[in-house]
Amino acid sequence: MELINRLTIGVMPVVPKSFIGKVASRYIAGEKLSDAVTEVKSLNANGAVATIDLLGEDNIDPDHSRKVTETYIEILDVIEAEKLDSNISVKPTDLGLQIGYDFCKEQITRIVAHAAALDNFLRIDIEDHTCTDDSIRLYKEIHDQYDNIGIALQAYLRRTIDDIKPLMETSANIRLCKGIYVEPRRISYKNRSIIINNFALLLEELLKAKCYVGIATHCEETVWHAKRIIYKLGLKPDEYEFQMLLGVEPGLRDILIEEGHKMRVYVPFGEEWYPYSTRRLKENPAIAGYVMRDFLGLRPA
Ligand SMILES: Cc1cc2nc3c(=O)[nH]c(=O)nc-3n(C[C@H](O)[C@H](O)[C@H](O)COP(=O)(O)OP(=O)(O)OC[C@H]3O[C@@H](n4cnc5c(N)ncnc54)[C@H](O)[C@@H]3O)c2cc1C
Repeated sequence: MELINRLTIGVMPVVPKSFIGKVASRYIAGEKLSDAVTEVKSLNANGAVATIDLLGEDNIDPDHSRKVTETYIEILDVIEAEKLDSNISVKPTDLGLQIGYDFCKEQITRIVAHAAALDNFLRIDIEDHTCTDDSIRLYKEIHDQYDNIGIALQAYLRRTIDDIKPLMETSANIRLCKGIYVEPRRISYKNRSIIINNFALLLEELLKAKCYVGIATHCEETVWHAKRIIYKLGLKPDEYEFQMLLGVEPGLRDILIEEGHKMRVYVPFGEEWYPYSTRRLKENPAIAGYVMRDFLGLRPA
């Protein structure tokens, strides 16, 4: 781990909340749904579509999860009313996965059903490895009833090459990302070049199987592999999309839009930005490094 990353994690507990807020504001639309709406309108005007995420995770209060469900239903209604080009992303642990699998399935199914009625789409974010089995099961079981649902998968996990096999049979809609959590080496690749190559391998298999893939990356090398595969398979722009996080690599985002690729930007909002931001920083030394570089006024490496 780079020294700057270790330093950042070490000083995190004493970093003022206002500073974390200042840094996080680049990556988060704001605390209110209206902030996300403003952000999505601006993205839509600039040629990108969006996915709205209500911040929150690791929740063990059923009432809170029910409130999250209601908020997602409101988000879908607002997307419809404001004619936004956006779908939604949800985290199973915010919708009660730690309370119980069936409880969580009930919450997500309610949201998916509402999305289906509005011709919208829900994607299940993928969290740390303790949630992988349940998240894939949630996707499969709800997909048996509704086809407006997709899931995210992580290229750093050794298991993902096996996980995609049954998903390819149903041409699943998948967001492919590298993975953000710090996982043990036993189950995850640690070498950057292997992760990029595994991303390319998984992407090629999924696209060959006619899966619609959200290619979620800000890494130019990974983007190049994706473009190589898209070119080789002769895919049309409506057979895949690129995805990026709000506030990250807008330059590369604009290049891809100008080249004619569909681009979806992940727009998180909500009051739970502080625990989200600090957890992310503690969990992921790379992001901690970005923050410290920001703090010092340096460009991300
Ligand atoms: C739309 C979207 C959805 C995602 N959903 C999930 C998910 O459900 N589960 C999951 O585990 N992970 C998710 N991720 C995160 C992903 O797994 C990676 O951790 C992250 O995208 C960094 O990998 P990269 O391919 O962008 O390449 P990297 O090589 O890590 O990053 C390339 C460059 O992008 C910049 N960068 C990357 N990430 C950030 C950041 N957060 N803040 C500031 N700068 C950054 C840096 O300049 C870096 O040099 C998602 C990412 C995206 C884009």
